Amino acid sequence: MLYKYEEDYVEQEADYSIELLKQLATIPAPSYHEEKRAQFCKQWFKERGIETTIDKMNNVVIKMFDDNQDIAVFCGHLDVVFADMEPLKITQKGNYLYGPGVGDDTANVVHLMQVIHYIHLHHLHGKTGILFVLNTCEEGLGNSNGCRYIVEQYKNRIKSFISFDGYLNQCTNSAVGSKRYRLTVHCQGGHSYADFGKENAIETLSKIMYELSHQQILTEAKTTYNFGKIEGGTTINAIASTATLLYEYRSSMQNCLDIMEKQFQEIVSHYS
Ligand SMILES: [Zn+2]
Repeated sequence: MLYKYEEDYVEQEADYSIELLKQLATIPAPSYHEEKRAQFCKQWFKERGIETTIDKMNNVVIKMFDDNQDIAVFCGHLDVVFADMEPLKITQKGNYLYGPGVGDDTANVVHLMQVIHYIHLHHLHGKTGILFVLNTCEEGLGNSNGCRYIVEQYKNRIKSFISFDGYLNQCTNSAVGSKRYRLTVHCQGGHSYADFGKENAIETLSKIMYELSHQQILTEAKTTYNFGKIEGGTTINAIASTATLLYEYRSSMQNCLDIMEKQFQEIVSHYS
């Protein structure tokens, strides 16, 4: 069916959007395990005659361009921040849907799918080539690896890159870079009383964290750091032999990222 106005399509599809959102949001998709969602989307497109490929990162890719054409990328991410591999529970109260990852980013994925369907129905073409990507590995330790893979593949041909992520009243128009580390301290450990005085991994990690929390805070551009998770030790009467920290820093300026990296390496070098 063809639509005279885009609004007609939006209106016609509104109720179905909600149904599709509920369906898709139920499918578990932790970063690096988005395969079920990817397959669902592939099948959905297939039923509508739209060709997709699933690349080695499990990104669902829809190409609308000729060889050597410049490309605009539009993407939304399939993964959710929750580790569940069982179906996710979605509930509706009035006009609101509640469930893991409904807003971030499943709703955007659903709307992208429907836009792609509309473009396909009406044989629309952009001035440049268009690449739609339902990408994987955006959240947490996914480290944006789905999108990174796309950028690696198309490099300079990409003239614009727009990610639909988050909510209606937000727009991010500058890039924020981040670097993430898993930092593990290993030492011999021992008995808390008999071996008192030996190195304790938790204590060492705490010292590193203390130094990191006193590093220079850069003001040229918004620059942040975070201790996301710490783990370590075994029991009350054992000197901890391992301790692990998840640490990240971010900035909207490359120069600040470089300084954060230098500061991090310098602090860690005191303990290695
Ligand atoms: Zn997101």
